[in-house]
Amino acid sequence: MSERELANVIPSMPASDGAGVKLRRSLGATQALRHDPFLMLDEFFSDNPDDYIAGFPSHPHRGFETVTYMLDGRMQHKDHLGNTGDLGPGDVQWMTAARGIIHSEMPQQTEGRMRGFQLWLNLPSGQKMQPASYRDIPTGDIPEAEFAGGRVRVIAGGWSHADQRVEGAVRRATTDPMLLDVHLDAGSRFEADIPAGHNAFAYVYEGEATIGGKVLPRRAAGLLGDGDRVEILSESDGTRLLLLAAKPLNEPIVQYGPFVMNTREEIEQALADYRDGTLAA
Ligand code: FE
Repeated sequence: MSERELANVIPSMPASDGAGVKLRRSLGATQALRHDPFLMLDEFFSDNPDDYIAGFPSHPHRGFETVTYMLDGRMQHKDHLGNTGDLGPGDVQWMTAARGIIHSEMPQQTEGRMRGFQLWLNLPSGQKMQPASYRDIPTGDIPEAEFAGGRVRVIAGGWSHADQRVEGAVRRATTDPMLLDVHLDAGSRFEADIPAGHNAFAYVYEGEATIGGKVLPRRAAGLLGDGDRVEILSESDGTRLLLLAAKPLNEPIVQYGPFVMNTREEIEQALADYRDGTLAA
């Protein structure tokens, strides 16, 4: 077994999206800051409704998947297919935009805390123009496992370590993504196997973590070097983090806002389709 080290730290930057939702963007803050097939990771976290109340009114996506994970607060998704989804604490929405989806994501509260994540995960060229699909995963359907000094919520892929495996709520072919939400007590250790060759990173959202002897601060994405296992330590305070890994696509990426394709011509087609009302037809 070879250990994955902390190879590169991408701090999150303040950003604003939708109709003015304040958030922190790490991956995706610039187009160079991707970790194939991961395109973007946003954390939103505020107790001030002015930071989130405007929400994300109707907007399109094409060519990839969006994963929303709520920690606190309530959001409602509505899309052109007629789906409505209510997301509350601990819930996940996995939306495969593929050929196209037009949706809104609006807060269902006027006060209190709103906290969660949105991840953009690329699709291979052969799946970018397939029909859109959508899935809500209520918190009670997300497998959880205890370990000495913490617990892990297995959202996608699986958690493997020491010849044990806990299957996650979501399995996706091709990129085979793993998404874990790890809660560590003070001074404890978490271990996970990650297939060699998969791109992996951790994002600490409470406390801080140590990986391979290096500190990964809060609100930063820590890209991991290659290997087939990772060991993460918490410090004197407890730590909460997301751990992600997936198989890289190694395809060209051309992105224009919410459209992520392989060529410039495909982006122009997406813009034309959106203008003509056929993006999601
Ligand atoms: Fe969206």
